[in-house]
Amino acid sequence: MEGCIFCKIVNRQIPSKIIYEDDQVVAFEDVNPQAPVHSLIVPKRHIATLADMGDEDYPLISHIFKIANRIARDKGISDRGFRVVVNCNGEAGQTVFHIHFHLLGGRQMHWPPG
Ligand code: AMP
Repeated sequence: MEGCIFCKIVNRQIPSKIIYEDDQVVAFEDVNPQAPVHSLIVPKRHIATLADMGDEDYPLISHIFKIANRIARDKGISDRGFRVVVNCNGEAGQTVFHIHFHLLGGRQMHWPPG
């Protein structure tokens, strides 16, 4: 989608540290990490928010969790613990309107989140 920063990352129009790619998703390092491990997993296809997902999109979510698990394993945080977060719309703090899954780990997390 024109003007979407994550579409630009997917299409290599702006630089990012890509750590995984397949036909459905791209994963890259968050530019402003909130934990020692902070990667973002995004579908290649532009979907603005979790609330915009249609029935046909749910297999994609399953795939994204598979990739999150793989990246967590590769980064050595599976056993210590990690968090997968999707912020949906304004009150949740979503700032980039191309759905993305934050993979966070490498430090003690707290609950409830702010
Ligand atoms: P959210 O607040 O859930 O929409 O998260 C958006 C995330 O995207 C934030 O953690 C930002 O640091 C991250 N971000 C924004 N622009 C970039 C970029 N060009 N490359 C990597 N991460 C980015």
